[in-house]
Amino acid sequence: MRILYRLLKMADDTVKCYLECCKSSHPKLPLPHNVPVIIGRTPELGITDKLCSRSQLELTSNCYKRYVLVKRLGANTSQINGIDIEKNKSSRLEEGQDLHVVNGKFPHRVYFTGCQNDTKTEKAVVPKLPTKSTDLTKSDLSIKQPERKKLKVSENKSKVLNSKIKPQEKFSSESVYAFDSPSPMSSRCEKKAESNKRAPTHKHWSQGLKASMEDPELVVKEDEQIVVIKDKYPKAKYHWLILPKDSISSTKNLSTDNIELLKHILKVGQELAAEVKDKQPDVEFRFGYHAVASMSQMHMHVISQDFQSSSFKTKKHWNSFTTDYFVDATDIINELETGGKVKDRRTMTSLLNEPLKCHRCKKPQKNIPTLKKHIDSCQK
Ligand SMILES: [Zn+2]
Ligand SMILES: [Zn+2]
Ligand SMILES: [Zn+2]
Repeated sequence: MRILYRLLKMADDTVKCYLECCKSSHPKLPLPHNVPVIIGRTPELGITDKLCSRSQLELTSNCYKRYVLVKRLGANTSQINGIDIEKNKSSRLEEGQDLHVVNGKFPHRVYFTGCQNDTKTEKAVVPKLPTKSTDLTKSDLSIKQPERKKLKVSENKSKVLNSKIKPQEKFSSESVYAFDSPSPMSSRCEKKAESNKRAPTHKHWSQGLKASMEDPELVVKEDEQIVVIKDKYPKAKYHWLILPKDSISSTKNLSTDNIELLKHILKVGQELAAEVKDKQPDVEFRFGYHAVASMSQMHMHVISQDFQSSSFKTKKHWNSFTTDYFVDATDIINELETGGKVKDRRTMTSLLNEPLKCHRCKKPQKNIPTLKKHIDSCQK
């Protein structure tokens, strides 16, 4: 009882939570403990994008556990560290994680002031950040993640193969941590304290995927140019992402210089598929990119066409893999080879709202459960 009282008191007295705009478009927004705050297309956040609902997200902070529950109310998707937030479900947002208010745009973060450090805590060791390199590289990242099991990385692997594309931003150690399971409160406080000493920077460049690229649980294979990871939320029996090690935010930034890289990515994907097909010749695969990038590191999906997965839940999931929103890798390569750049597909987001239909026989489907039932038996 006393402890609870003390916790409550500490939360009330010392810990405050704020929503911070990574683009500095507006002042920080207080998120009082346990009080739902609605954000969206409002003058307060300076968001005018019509795809963003006026009540896009409901944020409820927990100041003593130092996280914010994010509930999506709007029709279009929002992301935490690049992962879509399901509608009407509460997802946990931790300090240092990126919250994109709609469709991968309008990055924000939450932070808590004050540390509950008066309890006995272990000191978390925050390594000094290397300053020499301006490349966004795996070795940079692994230096900053001492607790994490390191992947086999050699220094020279990290050379930038495509100097034309500059990393938009570098990461902070804080942000790369964020994708993992929450660190204990004490170390988070330490980290916050450490990061406060540095200039306030917003490193919200696709930490989600970048962190996944470092996650031994997810990494399937890698070479000098690319990393293959399992999709954290697979939408089919086999679903991988292949990401270049260089920072390329989206297919729209590609140039003819990248053709070889894209061909390599496709080849690696086809090899993965071939391994599966060796044992199960009937498994079909597609290799492609989403028309509009939802996460800020470009990635090619390697996805089997069974779509049997409990993570496949929404119409948007379905349409993003079965309409023209899913662009075959060969199309992207062709566009670069013939026109020197990739078509602008920004208007294609409307495809995500198309009525459901079977990807094989094109028969309309009432809802996700009937669709799932149908595709299990559809042979066409
Ligand atoms: Zn903002
Ligand atoms: Zn994707
Ligand atoms: Zn069918």
